[in-house]
Amino acid sequence: MSEAFLSHLSATLKDIEAAGLFKRERLLTGPQGGRIRVGGPKGAREAVNLCANNYLGLADHPDVIAAAKSAMDEFGFGMASVRFICGAQTLHRELEQAIARHLGKDDAIVFAACFDANGGVFEPLLDEADAIISDSLNHASIIDGVRLSKAKRYRFANSDMNELEDRLKEADSAGARFKLIASDGVFSMDGYVAKLKEVCALADRYGALVLVDDCHATGHLGEKGRGTPALTGAGGRVDIVTGTFGKTLGGGMGGFVAAAQPIVDLLRQRARPYLFSNSLAPPIAAGALKALEIAIEADDRRALLQAHAIRFRAGIEKAGFKVLKGETPIIPVMLGDARLAQDLAQALDDLGVFVAGFFFPVVPKGQARIRTQMSAALTTEDIDFAVSAFAEAGKSLGIV
Ligand SMILES: *Cc1c(COP(=O)(O)O)cnc(C)c1O
Repeated sequence: MSEAFLSHLSATLKDIEAAGLFKRERLLTGPQGGRIRVGGPKGAREAVNLCANNYLGLADHPDVIAAAKSAMDEFGFGMASVRFICGAQTLHRELEQAIARHLGKDDAIVFAACFDANGGVFEPLLDEADAIISDSLNHASIIDGVRLSKAKRYRFANSDMNELEDRLKEADSAGARFKLIASDGVFSMDGYVAKLKEVCALADRYGALVLVDDCHATGHLGEKGRGTPALTGAGGRVDIVTGTFGKTLGGGMGGFVAAAQPIVDLLRQRARPYLFSNSLAPPIAAGALKALEIAIEADDRRALLQAHAIRFRAGIEKAGFKVLKGETPIIPVMLGDARLAQDLAQALDDLGVFVAGFFFPVVPKGQARIRTQMSAALTTEDIDFAVSAFAEAGKSLGIV
């Protein structure tokens, strides 16, 4: 091993550390939930969890666990193959048909993760004659997926409809054959909902397709959890929905693209992360399917989630913190400085509240924050406990 190379890497790591940008991973000693066990030097302790994407609290739902266990008995542990070589199981098809039905699309195709779905969706559908117009706050996996396609790339400032229109005109002037607008449904760092109705109106005017990545919405936002197309009223005008089973829908893993039949059919022929990667493990597919079934019927959990978001927002603002306005269960507490965000996260950790500081490069420099996320697995007492911990830690650090 080259010493020069290793010391080059060590220097980079030191720079990350010196800038206060080093990410440390903590270890849980039990299941994901509203209250979790966090390992530490003095042993594991309990904490109220405000940083999982476990919006409906299905990650340790007994029925999801039971479905996964019985699928393991019936279908085994692993698939040990890609689908076009060795086939999929009936489970995988059921999962695809169920998510497609839920989102009102002809069909869906399941990937190992939404990162793979986004990585694989653009390249087969569009080529150098086409244009992709992407929101500046889109998830890293969309950015990478767009880079992997040969289409011409355009970017517009987050939810800026004037810029989007300018980019559509530019793409037209450049002679684009097909144009696709790509947007997150919920921008995960800010919790903002995309202006999908306006996006779709522009798409109509300029004859563009619309793709929405609804990872932070499918299952918990919109009527019956149909996500941001339902929430915003854009509905079926959104041509392609990508999403995950790794968040609200059980939090296991797996991603999907739901769309019109020819789109899904072509992705099955050409999407590289689908063709050259293993199928979801049977227990994971069965757990996701059960989680979807539960989520569709879970109006009670969606109502609780929303009530928590309202209560936490009000409490934290009253305590003197600056939060971004919004209507989703993502509530970013803005701190500015990366070190301050880390210090507050540490102080909250000591008080039994599990949060994560977000800073560059995940969010822009100077916009460090603690992104809190509500969950139906939390109780009202948990929310109040978390608000008082924020107030106490904020005072001790001179933030409020
Ligand atoms: C979480 C997330 C992904 C990645 O999903 P995985 O299934 O975990 O790979 C993609 N896009 C967005 C917007 C996300 O929030």
